[in-house]
Amino acid sequence: GRDRHYMFMIRSRTPAGKLTPDQYLAVDDISNEYADGTIRVTTRQAFQLHGIIKSELKKTIKEINDSLITTLGACGDIVRNVMATPAPDIDGRQAKVQDFADELSDILLPATNAYHEIWLDGEKVYSGKEEVTNGTTEPLYSSSYLPRKFKVGIALPGDNSVDLYTQDIGLVAIFDDENEIIGFNVVVGGGMGMHHRKPETFPRLGDHLGYITKDKVVEVVKGIIGIQRDYGNRENRKQARMKYLIHDWGLDKFRSELIDRIGYDLEEFREIPKFELELYLGWHQQSDGNWFLGVSVENGRIKDERDLKLKTALRKVVKEFRTEVRMTPNHNVLLTDIPEDQKEPIEQAFRDHGVALADEIPNAIKFSMACPALPTCGLAITESERALPAVIRDLNDVLEKLELQDEKLSVRMTGCPNGCSRPYVADIGFVGRSLDKYSIFIGGDPSGTRLNKEYKDMVPREELVQEVRPLLEQFKNERTDNESFSDFWNRVGIQNPEEVPA
Ligand code: SF4
Repeated sequence: GRDRHYMFMIRSRTPAGKLTPDQYLAVDDISNEYADGTIRVTTRQAFQLHGIIKSELKKTIKEINDSLITTLGACGDIVRNVMATPAPDIDGRQAKVQDFADELSDILLPATNAYHEIWLDGEKVYSGKEEVTNGTTEPLYSSSYLPRKFKVGIALPGDNSVDLYTQDIGLVAIFDDENEIIGFNVVVGGGMGMHHRKPETFPRLGDHLGYITKDKVVEVVKGIIGIQRDYGNRENRKQARMKYLIHDWGLDKFRSELIDRIGYDLEEFREIPKFELELYLGWHQQSDGNWFLGVSVENGRIKDERDLKLKTALRKVVKEFRTEVRMTPNHNVLLTDIPEDQKEPIEQAFRDHGVALADEIPNAIKFSMACPALPTCGLAITESERALPAVIRDLNDVLEKLELQDEKLSVRMTGCPNGCSRPYVADIGFVGRSLDKYSIFIGGDPSGTRLNKEYKDMVPREELVQEVRPLLEQFKNERTDNESFSDFWNRVGIQNPEEVPA
């Protein structure tokens, strides 16, 4: 039988979340043949296939590899899938950022004999040996890899869809007047994960390290990774992310160490416009005159369920119209390179399969995210992906009653404090705590520039919405014009009622 203990998860390395039509169709085939019939878009612009049986693992990997997608660098203590703004080229800048993401992703891949690696609950269980890269020495990672996984994301000024400040290294591409990349703002030391009742662990936003010209950025990135490789905590995995090193050292010491390694300092952080969370749902025009369509994928799960045949619809559209596919950091899908005269038939194909387009979906659902959690993640304590749909619909009912349904409220749920759906920068974070109980976090900034605060702990799932409701009511009654929910609560000050002294 399909015993969970013998089932595997495969995750892709797909920088900036790009898939060709043929690659997408291959993934769709493989998901039907070897996995549980669904495709999971992750919050790092990769896909995961769940429920692969051990005896079919090698075949599955081979088929994925035949479609020219690799799984190497998707897991383990190395640089993970490099994220970048998912939009196809709109104004000459997006494509350049994505090209750079591809380049950086290749540079940061480990040189290893194991071209395919399969992980189960964080343990490596399989290494394929089909390919040898640059010999046995491992210049970037040395023989011991990194103390912990390492995350890199590249943003555009104004577009923080990659959640720059939650990455180990976040880069913001800076352009000249001709829209050529001239350099990058560098942010270091972000990370979401924490452990409850372990105050030495915490989510952290990255610090502004400075600006570096394009010709030196790879050297700077490698220098930063080298510091983490050499000084990151290898004794305690709970303290092993680079954010703890930077927290312990302070940014000045980190900077001196970097200067020692590369021989120069970074320039001043360049001024950039305020970041927004951009989902790119609905229709947008590309720089070449074609269009792209952002399709909302609730909780990232591409599947057919009852009348909502999202998986069939995507397959049909990709197959018939040969659209490219981009997986976004908010686990949605963008279909790109669509000529004007195909817009209508494509919309119709989605309607025929019961798939609602962007403006028909409540904001609460569009802006929500959930990690996979049970039953596919070995670290999960609570439900997340399977629980959020009901919770978010209850919450949306409350929002409608309060006439707040047009607010861009980001609600993010996880099945454990690890924070894969980046709950600690959401307006409202529901973080799995213990059997069907969650912590509620309030007041992040969906543009990813402010952490939220814990409001209540150990709230049963069925009480989440009623616990949040008074906060929505007070916000509605006391907000100033255009003030967002989280800005309001940061101004007023969120306080856990159980912690108020009598
Ligand atoms: Fe698993 Fe926790 Fe990540 Fe959810 S947040 S996918 S439960 S590790």
